[in-house]
Amino acid sequence: MRNILSSAHVHTTFCDGKTMARDMARTAYEMGFVSLGFTSHAAQMFDPAHCIAPLSEEDYKKEIRRLQQEYAGRMAIYLGIERDMLSCSDTKDYDYFIASVHYFTRPDGTHSGVDAPSQVMQKYVDECCDRNGLVMAERYFSLFRDYVVESKPAIIGHFDLVRYNNSILHLYDEESKEYRTMALDALRAMYETGALLEVNTGGVARGYMTDPYPSPFILKEWKAWGGEVIINSDCHDARLLDAGYTQAEEILLSIGYDHVVRLSPDPEKGMWETIGLTS
Ligand SMILES: [Zn+2]
Ligand SMILES: [Zn+2]
Repeated sequence: MRNILSSAHVHTTFCDGKTMARDMARTAYEMGFVSLGFTSHAAQMFDPAHCIAPLSEEDYKKEIRRLQQEYAGRMAIYLGIERDMLSCSDTKDYDYFIASVHYFTRPDGTHSGVDAPSQVMQKYVDECCDRNGLVMAERYFSLFRDYVVESKPAIIGHFDLVRYNNSILHLYDEESKEYRTMALDALRAMYETGALLEVNTGGVARGYMTDPYPSPFILKEWKAWGGEVIINSDCHDARLLDAGYTQAEEILLSIGYDHVVRLSPDPEKGMWETIGLTS
């Protein structure tokens, strides 16, 4: 395997990543990547540790455009952003954006992270969802559906991030008809926008998930509809730029996918291209 050689979802020290942008680009190039898309977390006003500072946004754009020039003809670099539903950022200066939902807004106006530590999630479910994990999941998928339908991103980011704490908290049964129906109903509306569904290996790379987002039943249905997928590492540390890719490819092959989409190595031919999967 090892034919993807691209990630359209990486974070750097401009937000909560560990690696500087120029070092991320160098590592990707040394690994043989043909393309790389930077996607800093867009600014929001309540969780500054996990997003770009509004005052740094121009520097981020300049630095990624500079790297784009530096690597021109050797590795295609794109300026993207991962825009949370609650971000205040505009996407107009970016080549593309990933839409994600990372937070719930509580009735008092504060926020709880979808991928916050388990005790924070449990408190949110107890206090704001009638102690019912399915109520929380339904809220997540419906917020995400509305956001994607309205904003039309290039990529749907970690579609079922809501599973983040479920192996510890068992908030709902991932096999249940109720859960699967709510997930697929939301996904169907997103599919109609033409967005790419991300197979996100970041949780596997960081050791808190055993398989990528989203679950196989979601990937199966997406394939039946004719949807396109992109494998992304959601990388926060250059050493993990393609971590989990082999597993992701194996899962996709087992479901019947024969290709994925990646960022194009030649921007003049378009931003995206398809690449065959081989076992
Ligand atoms: Zn994210
Ligand atoms: Zn991310």
